[in-house]
Amino acid sequence: MMELSYQSMKVAHQAREADELRTEMRRKSLLILIYQHLLGQGYVAAAVALDQETNGGVRKSEVCDNIDLEMVLMEYESYHYVKFQRYPKLIRRTAEPAEIRVAKSGGVKRSPCSAVKLLPKISQCQSPLSGNVTKRTAVSSNTNENGSCVPPESSEFGLNVSSIRNGPAGEAAVNRKMTDGRGLIQGAGCDSDHMERLLKPLSGFSGMTGEMRELAAIISRDIYLHSPNVRWEDIIGLEDAKRLVKEAVVYPIKYPQLFTGILSPWKGLLLYGPPGTGKTLLAKAVATECKTTFFNISASSIVSKWRGDSEKLVRVLFELARYHAPSTIFLDELESVMSQRGTGMGGEHEGSLRMKTELLVQMDGLAKSDDLVFVLAASNLPWELDHAMLRRLEKRILVGLPSPPARQAMIFHWLPPLSSTGGVELQTELDYESLAKGMEGYSGSDVKLVCKEAAMRPVRKIFDALESHQDGDTDMPVIQLETVTTADFLEVLTHTKPSTRNLMERYTAWEREYESV
Ligand code: ADP
Repeated sequence: MMELSYQSMKVAHQAREADELRTEMRRKSLLILIYQHLLGQGYVAAAVALDQETNGGVRKSEVCDNIDLEMVLMEYESYHYVKFQRYPKLIRRTAEPAEIRVAKSGGVKRSPCSAVKLLPKISQCQSPLSGNVTKRTAVSSNTNENGSCVPPESSEFGLNVSSIRNGPAGEAAVNRKMTDGRGLIQGAGCDSDHMERLLKPLSGFSGMTGEMRELAAIISRDIYLHSPNVRWEDIIGLEDAKRLVKEAVVYPIKYPQLFTGILSPWKGLLLYGPPGTGKTLLAKAVATECKTTFFNISASSIVSKWRGDSEKLVRVLFELARYHAPSTIFLDELESVMSQRGTGMGGEHEGSLRMKTELLVQMDGLAKSDDLVFVLAASNLPWELDHAMLRRLEKRILVGLPSPPARQAMIFHWLPPLSSTGGVELQTELDYESLAKGMEGYSGSDVKLVCKEAAMRPVRKIFDALESHQDGDTDMPVIQLETVTTADFLEVLTHTKPSTRNLMERYTAWEREYESV
């Protein structure tokens, strides 16, 4: 009797295992099909993200060529009908009531999507399948008679790449999305604050040769799909620079109707100043706050990685930016590609010259167009920049070293009186004002470094205790960190000098000289 029940338990267990295996295989096949569908439709960035989320699992495998996603979904629908006498209810993520109200409240000509009452903002709500896509593009987002974006009735692709996470909640999300069959086939709708912006598929990007498509896919991988998540309030000080950046880029995107004629927006903006002062943070804040498509290209990587192809890469980059407008192209370390021509050792590489020329041509193209595409360039060495390039970066903003109150706010931010590091409390007793005064010439990242060093001092002192403990018993000793004092901080300052001393004068001199040319 006992033997029998053991046998039947074993059989039941094996059946359960086989069932789990089948479910897992079905789940994997479906992910592979979604991946292939995304690629086929040109949603390269989403496909790459899905591939990363599954650790390359979807790219490395293939399903038989007699199955495709539509078929799986149709079968699922038939199965559901047979079993429950009704078609499955396909779920989509609904917008908050407030968002729907905003979306329905008016329209702007320049964007097919959302609006606020008088001065409408352009939201990221775009139909990714607009353009030249022919197959299966019937519905993506609906536009009402005012041109505002209304969430689609029954379909929203909603493959929010960032929502595909591991763990049960993430799986539920994946499964929910996967059952959203019609939406999946028909394409993406508007995004909301809860959703990542989905990029339009590259298949709608006309006139691309295979080679160009490859370059476009490369660039798409560099696009910030995820918001860089830097808010204006995360940037300490730099009030003038923040105001100027907002005037130059943020407001024209939010209120395009104000920026026409003589007020038409600057297309090129140069952020210059010592390293570590927050230029990249400013660019990231623009991307976060405006939710523009953000192309973050380090100029040196264009040159080093794409030497031969860099000219074509630049062309495709700008075309993509126009295609995904409103967009911001952030060119970091501009001097590494746009130094004054012919000044390099032994003359310049011809490919690099062609690339510079292409960059200039593209900037001219932007200046003549109404496209909402902005070039934000950053440079630590503006005096090395090519004059032709400088002329096209009409708006130049000095991002200088932090003022004493900004330094004080930084020290307070990174070393508050009480904070917690890895669950251990860190206390400080600092004379913030005098410390900040004594740090003339330190950049934001220098201040951060000093704060980090100061915080390390008490931590270092407990390493010995921790190490000896590891060899011994298993109980964790109670960790009490010493308070970081003003004296500790001063001690750190004696051997951590500012990285850009005396450069400030050069920036202001350059600013004066250049403005007077
Ligand atoms: P860069 O001017 O070289 O682009 P970054 O913007 O990359 O400098 O800043 C480097 C780091 O220094 C930032 O990640 C941040 O931690 C710190 N930092 C610099 N300036 C500021 C600032 N004004 N506010 C807050 N953090 C800052």
